[in-house]
Amino acid sequence: MNAQRILRNVFGYKVFRSGQEKVINLVLQRQNVLAVMPTGAGKSLCYQIPALLNSGVTLVISPLISLMKDQIDSLHQNGIEAAALNSATPQEEVNPILRQAYEGKIKLLYMTPERLAMDYFRYQLNFIDVSLVAVDEAHCISQWGHDFRPAYRQILDGINSLKSKPNILALTATATPAVQDDIAKQLNIKKENYVVTSFVRPNLSFQVVNSSKDNNLYIYDYIKAHVNQAGIVYTNTRKRVGEITAYLQRKGISAASYHGGMATEDRDCIQDDFQFDRLQVIVATNAFGMGIDKSNVRFVIHANSARNIESYYQEAGRAGRDGDPCSAILLYHPGDLATYRWFIDQSDANDDYKKVQYRKLAAITQYANTSECLQQFIVRYFGQDCAPCGKCSNCTDKRKLVDVTKEAREIIGTVYELDGRFGKNIIAQAVTGSKSQKMKQIQAEKLQYFGSLKMRQNEALSLINYLIANGFLEVEGDQYPLVHVTNPGWDVLDGKRQVFRKGEIRPIAAKGEAES
Ligand code: ADP
Ligand code: ZN
Repeated sequence: MNAQRILRNVFGYKVFRSGQEKVINLVLQRQNVLAVMPTGAGKSLCYQIPALLNSGVTLVISPLISLMKDQIDSLHQNGIEAAALNSATPQEEVNPILRQAYEGKIKLLYMTPERLAMDYFRYQLNFIDVSLVAVDEAHCISQWGHDFRPAYRQILDGINSLKSKPNILALTATATPAVQDDIAKQLNIKKENYVVTSFVRPNLSFQVVNSSKDNNLYIYDYIKAHVNQAGIVYTNTRKRVGEITAYLQRKGISAASYHGGMATEDRDCIQDDFQFDRLQVIVATNAFGMGIDKSNVRFVIHANSARNIESYYQEAGRAGRDGDPCSAILLYHPGDLATYRWFIDQSDANDDYKKVQYRKLAAITQYANTSECLQQFIVRYFGQDCAPCGKCSNCTDKRKLVDVTKEAREIIGTVYELDGRFGKNIIAQAVTGSKSQKMKQIQAEKLQYFGSLKMRQNEALSLINYLIANGFLEVEGDQYPLVHVTNPGWDVLDGKRQVFRKGEIRPIAAKGEAES
């Protein structure tokens, strides 16, 4: 038997998808390999096929119990013996499973990283001929990633303690070059054994929509205009999930909630309804997604921005797995970022990890404010490049470019005068002439540009974000990011460079709106 035959005879597919064959060949040559392939690309086959060709057992380290269950069910359907060891495995089944693995009766053994860290399992695994260890969601090993899990740190130790000296296949859908190198370093993977397929999703149209705080109406209008299409609405809190669902249901949309606080049976039931098109829209927190394999999701709306580009791309990428056109819409409101910042502040992660997460938040803010092609922005974030997509909301923005040099200079001048000591909100207050206590405290009225920008404060903030996203200003610092002038920003101040932005500036006569 070879890989091609197994693909056809066991899994029933005709051809390999991009990257699969290369990964499988390297794995069969007993190399340690890193596979970075987007969600839905078919990463599982990359270890399932070697598992059938190898003489021993393939150990699959996966963080999610529900995902293991789905995979094992589908392996059984294909007539492949597989089992899982996790906290949900009944005690009386543990030893029989280990025995079956010992006797070579199962080809794939799924395990959480926590189990692999336990002495009992490490000891038992020594009796088993493990030929390959597949590490799924490998970005969880890296503090530079967006989903670090401490138990992942012990994986290499666990693997090294195995008598049978298996090779390793690390798999992930989202890893920046820094995260790729970190995974590789920790799992002993050579650079030439990276298999990174393209991050471009040609059938996805990305859109960023500046939203007001109450964006229910936008969501409703969108769904109403796409009645026969299945979609997912992601939001950031369980409370907001409930609100959006109730609103949509009241308006007659077939929508249901999904979040981690719901009973498993209810969640399964809703997932089933969605899978089989009995339900048009799922409104969910990030608890929804891993393991869903619905191919005809036509739109993914993020109602309250997203916490980082990695999760955004993974969640948005659940649209259009069938390859047909679909939309990924990010509703952006600066206030949402404050919520995500708060999530990080409150988490009990260590300071280094928090720092990385603050930077990832800054990157998604940049995404929401950039004038570049959105697909290109994301692909570059992951260390690749592509041509402008021609269909994202930036590529198709037909509004005229407006010269905003004067406004930009007022903002940049204020940043300069405040000498990099303050964040965006204070700058926006100063340049729009806010009467806040803080302004008195820092004697802002003495600034050259105090109150010179005739805009609402939130519009000023949006222009500041635009200037940051396009490199005229930069933010430094993590929990309390401070704004600084960059070299292009200096050029604007010196009158050597102009700034253009699509759209219209709406000057106001009335006094600035108080915000934050
Ligand atoms: P990932 O883990 O990369 O998100 P999966 O391994 O879950 O993706 O695969 C996604 C879907 O694609 C699954 O339904 C799988 O059976 C299917 N698939 C994988 N490889 C192929 C292939 N070569 N041809 C057709 N379908 C495939
Ligand atoms: Zn584009």
